[in-house]
Amino acid sequence: MRLVPGPIAAGWATESVLHRVGIHQSTEIRFPVYGRIAISVDTRPEIKGLLPAELEDVLSDRGFERYRGRQIAQWMYGYGSTSFSEMTNLSKSARERQGESLNIMSLERAATEEASDGSAIKFLFQMTDGRRIESVLMREGKRRTLCVSSQVGCPLDCTFCATGKMGLVRNLTSGEIIDQVVQARRHLNAKDEDLTNVVMMGMGEPLLNLDAVSKATQLMNLDYGPAISNRRITVSTAGHVPGIHRLIEAGQKVMLAVSLNATTDDFRDEIMPINKKWPIEALLDACAAYQIFNGRRITFEYVLLGGLNDSVDHARALARLVRRIPCKINVIPWNPIDDEDYERPNESTIRSFVDTVVDAQMTVTVRYSKGTEITAGCGQLYQKMVDN
Ligand code: SAH
Repeated sequence: MRLVPGPIAAGWATESVLHRVGIHQSTEIRFPVYGRIAISVDTRPEIKGLLPAELEDVLSDRGFERYRGRQIAQWMYGYGSTSFSEMTNLSKSARERQGESLNIMSLERAATEEASDGSAIKFLFQMTDGRRIESVLMREGKRRTLCVSSQVGCPLDCTFCATGKMGLVRNLTSGEIIDQVVQARRHLNAKDEDLTNVVMMGMGEPLLNLDAVSKATQLMNLDYGPAISNRRITVSTAGHVPGIHRLIEAGQKVMLAVSLNATTDDFRDEIMPINKKWPIEALLDACAAYQIFNGRRITFEYVLLGGLNDSVDHARALARLVRRIPCKINVIPWNPIDDEDYERPNESTIRSFVDTVVDAQMTVTVRYSKGTEITAGCGQLYQKMVDN
């Protein structure tokens, strides 16, 4: 952004202020007292988040060779380049011209927190409008899994989740979603490691931002990019039924996880308002359709809320409910958030719940969330952030 100095423009118009008031391009503002102030904001098209074919179109529209699209995509998504100057297989003059006419956005790393045992790292990213999101990188054996955010906040208002308390601020762009992956890979590559899995389980409801999520998951696949296959990408939903059908229509066979968390509509209505729109049976029908579509097991997440949904009877009811769908059950003992309405069940309750599900011949795992010490556990994202 360039500001043409006017009497007051230089004083107050920072880029993020301009974005907040909705100024995104060259604008002339007339002030009765100060007269005309010309403000010119960066209007170069943003290319991070474009699919290679889209990138080729943008390049050819601006007079560059189409085949450069693949090279640039490899630099951006594969090597994590943040500017054209790093793209050394392009001529110097092409790099300069591209830099003048195209923009590569990068999330700014505002903070990084690491759990003391190294099992989790939480990245706090700041976007160009000043908003912030979190991603959590988890290490377990040979797996390096990134938990990726899809929205700033979330509109769904699940009562047990910290992100829900924020409400929805905005959707992320495909560039902001893929850049979380690109940056986590850069972090790992510096230690001779690489990202193996992505779970869309950070802030937000991915199926309410499906266009951007779906572009980002396609970019994750790129063999000259992050090269993460669909079997290692999980999209998790609170139960947005039309979104599950749209995911089938999109045709990319990513893994699906569904946050079930309850065995009756009455209780699910109470803790997950989305259930009033799409109750359990409708949700399970959509899951069955998705399972047939991708041929892999659905994961049902089940947050254990002490004294509310964690009894042996609940475990039996859960097994009965999902039995008709090839699936795995992932039990998540509730992680504390500031609002202490709920309790985490004790170890013996967790054990009996899990044993009962196993006795009912279902596959079950317990997710002892990584990084609760740095409030990076499931459902804890963003409670410690201030000015969003
Ligand atoms: N909106 C999507 C993606 C978020 S995933 C979804 O709901 O699936 C976040 C997961 O963490 C969900 O399975 C949710 O049920 C779970 N969760 C939310 N708050 C939690 C908390 N405080 N403790 C443990 N798990 C929680």
